[in-house]
Amino acid sequence: MKDKIFVASPFLPDINEYMNEVKDIFDAKYVTNMGPKHNKFKEILKEKLKVNNLDLVVNGHMALENALQALELEGEVITTPFTFISTTNAIVRNNLIPIFCDVDPTTLTIDANKIEDLITEKTSAIMPVHIYGNICDVEKIEEIARKHKLKVIYDAAQAFGIEYKGNGIGSYGDLSCFSLHATKIYNSVEGGVVCAKEESILKKLEIIKNFGLSGEDVLEFGGNSKMSEFHAAMGICNSKYIKDIIARRKELYDKYKEKLNNLRDVKILENNKSATNNYAYFVILVDKDKRDNYLKHLESNNIYARKYFYPLTNEVSCYKDKFDLGYTPIAKEASEKVLTLPLHTNLTDEQADKIISLTLDFFNN
Ligand SMILES: *Cc1c(COP(=O)(O)O)cnc(C)c1O
Repeated sequence: MKDKIFVASPFLPDINEYMNEVKDIFDAKYVTNMGPKHNKFKEILKEKLKVNNLDLVVNGHMALENALQALELEGEVITTPFTFISTTNAIVRNNLIPIFCDVDPTTLTIDANKIEDLITEKTSAIMPVHIYGNICDVEKIEEIARKHKLKVIYDAAQAFGIEYKGNGIGSYGDLSCFSLHATKIYNSVEGGVVCAKEESILKKLEIIKNFGLSGEDVLEFGGNSKMSEFHAAMGICNSKYIKDIIARRKELYDKYKEKLNNLRDVKILENNKSATNNYAYFVILVDKDKRDNYLKHLESNNIYARKYFYPLTNEVSCYKDKFDLGYTPIAKEASEKVLTLPLHTNLTDEQADKIISLTLDFFNN
C-alpha cells in the first residue's frame, strides 16, 4: 500500500481533532439518529453549499435513491451513461427506466440539446450529472423541465463547493445530491447530502431516511439511510479544511496542466469556465490504442491511474437485454479514451513530478 499511488486518497484531519469530536459523542452517549453532531454538521453544510434546505444521509448513493423516491416518479428518467454506476442504479432501483442521452464533447456532461428528442409521454424526470465537477447546462435543462413539466434531480456527487453565478450548485434542480465519500474532495468517511428546492420535499426526505416513520405511524416505505454521529464528527472536522484542500488540489492540477499541455497525444479535459472549480479530477483523453499501454507503464511504477468512466453505464452486464440502451457515440468515444490521474491532498510534489516525467517519457517515445 505504502509505495503505491492511487487516483484518490482520503483527506484526514489530525487524529486528536477527531478524538475531541468523538469525546462529545461518548459523553452524550448519543451515537446516531439525528443527534447534535448530525444537526451541527447540517448547519455547516448549508453555509458551505449556500443552500437553504438540505438533509444528511448515509452516502451519496442513498441521497440519489431517496431523492427519486421523494418525488414519486414513474416511467422514464432521461440521464447520462457517462457516470459512476450509482446514478443509473439509483434510477433502476426506484423501478424507473433510464433513458440514455449523449454527452457534450467538451464538458462530458449531458448534452442539453439532445434531451428534448428523448422526451415521451412516459418521461417524468431528468437526472443529469455534474461529472468531474463540470457543471451541466443548468439553465437550458431548467427551461426544458419547465416546458415539459419534468422534475430535475442533479447527481452533484462530484461537485462539492462549486458555485455558478454566485449560487451554490446544489440550489439548481428540484433536488441535488452530493457525496461525502472518502474518495471525494471533502469527506465524512461515508456521507451524502440532498438539497431540496421545496421544504415539503425536504420533510419527506427526512421521513424516508428513517424507515418512513412519523411518530408511531409510517408515512413512506422508507429504508434506513441515516448518518451516524461519528460520520458527522468527521465531516465537522474536515469542514475546516475545505479551502485548503481545494487550494492544494489546484496546485497539483496546475502543475499537471502546465507540464502535459503540449503533448500531442494527450488532451486535457477543460474545466468549466462559467463556474468555479473544485479540482476534483485531472482528466485526460488519450488515443484508445495507447491507453492500456500507458496505464501499464504507470502501473509498473506503482502508479494507478483509472479509466474513469469506462465502461459506460449503458454497457454493463446487468442492463443488457433489460433496457433500450440508446445510442450515445460521443460518450462511447470519451469512455474509450478517458483517464484520470492521481490527484489528492496526500500526493506530494515529488510524486506528481514522477507521474509527469513517466507520462512525458511514454508519449514522447
Ligand atoms: C461517488 C459518486 C456517487 C455515489 O456516492 P457515494 O457517497 O459513494 O455513495 C454517485 N454518483 C457519482 C457521479 C459519484 O461520483
